[in-house]
Amino acid sequence: MPESHARLSASAAHRWLNCPPSVALTANIPEGSSSYAEEGTLAHSLAELKVLKKFTTMKKSEYDKRFKEISADPLYQTEMDGHTDTYLEYILGIAHGYNKVKPYVVAEKKLDYSHIAPEGFGTGDCVMICKNDLHIFDFKYGKGVPVSAEDNPQLRLYALGALNEYSFLYDIQNVHMHIIQPRIDSGISSSDMAVSDLIAWGETIKPIAEDAYNGKGEYKCGDWCRFCKAKALCRKRAEYLLDVEETAKMPPELLSHSEIGEVLRRVRMLKNFIEDIESYALNEILSGNSVDGWKAVEGTSRRKITDVDAAFKILTDNGIDEAMLYEKTPIGITALDKLLSKDQFALIGAYIQKPKGKPTLVPASDKREDYKNVDVNEIFGGNDND
Ligand code: SF4
Repeated sequence: MPESHARLSASAAHRWLNCPPSVALTANIPEGSSSYAEEGTLAHSLAELKVLKKFTTMKKSEYDKRFKEISADPLYQTEMDGHTDTYLEYILGIAHGYNKVKPYVVAEKKLDYSHIAPEGFGTGDCVMICKNDLHIFDFKYGKGVPVSAEDNPQLRLYALGALNEYSFLYDIQNVHMHIIQPRIDSGISSSDMAVSDLIAWGETIKPIAEDAYNGKGEYKCGDWCRFCKAKALCRKRAEYLLDVEETAKMPPELLSHSEIGEVLRRVRMLKNFIEDIESYALNEILSGNSVDGWKAVEGTSRRKITDVDAAFKILTDNGIDEAMLYEKTPIGITALDKLLSKDQFALIGAYIQKPKGKPTLVPASDKREDYKNVDVNEIFGGNDND
């Protein structure tokens, strides 16, 4: 869930751990809101409701009432029900793994990690404790950027908060952190740590958190800039991405593979920077501010029929054959998935096929398996001598 109140929020930890002064720099930049974020909040409410229904004594009438409210929201779509089921099923799978021992489970739990990061707290989507194990479940509804539980500071801070609260009551020895991101292929990821290692990690970040809280430390540009409120205006980011001096120092001949790796890394960040700064400048101009050398104009638009039924009726009344006006085309698989419930979609399972995807260039840190069975000729065609 969004954590707008903590200065050192867990969800932004990847950024402030890498670029501590970004916290002070962005303190007065307002938080933007988008329909994606609101959709995510709604999906979290449904996910929480399902966990509460399963693990607490919530009455069916109460569940039905809240489900009705959520499903009446304009942002609700049938697929949200299936994705939150996936989240719940994953949690249930872990709970059932403990056989006859009933785990302690809590949803939307405020977790205080201020002993690590000043005033730090966040909201864990679901916390489970059983035997010597602590589980932290994080539900992610986004489908743009896959998030891994491996080395994930957000989940580690939640876990430290949970340890802080529950270690007096439970003998917790092992921490298991899970991300359930059901709108992404292979969107489930988990990472395990011994409590002693987690506590040691917490100690290592304490000085960085202090710096971040006090507006100190070094600016550092990286993939975390994409989620920084200063991303369009940050001088450090602009300097880093537009600095050509280092490239100029390269030998004049051909780039080596290691240089290509570095160029690709910067080009990817530069693409994001271009989008960020274009969107910021357009917004400023539309708000009445000037940006030297730039203006906003009307983009290309397409003609459209405002009332198809009324327009076509005029045509048929004037002798145009109705059969000529309509095409019968099936809706796409994504629209179908949104339209149908999970059970309805399963009815056509035998006709759903997922062909092997094309090879895609990604950073080596990407968790997906390396592309196999490569036939370069088939992918890129033969060479000039073929
Ligand atoms: S844009 Fe990047 S470098 Fe600049 S403050 Fe934000 S995180 Fe730091």
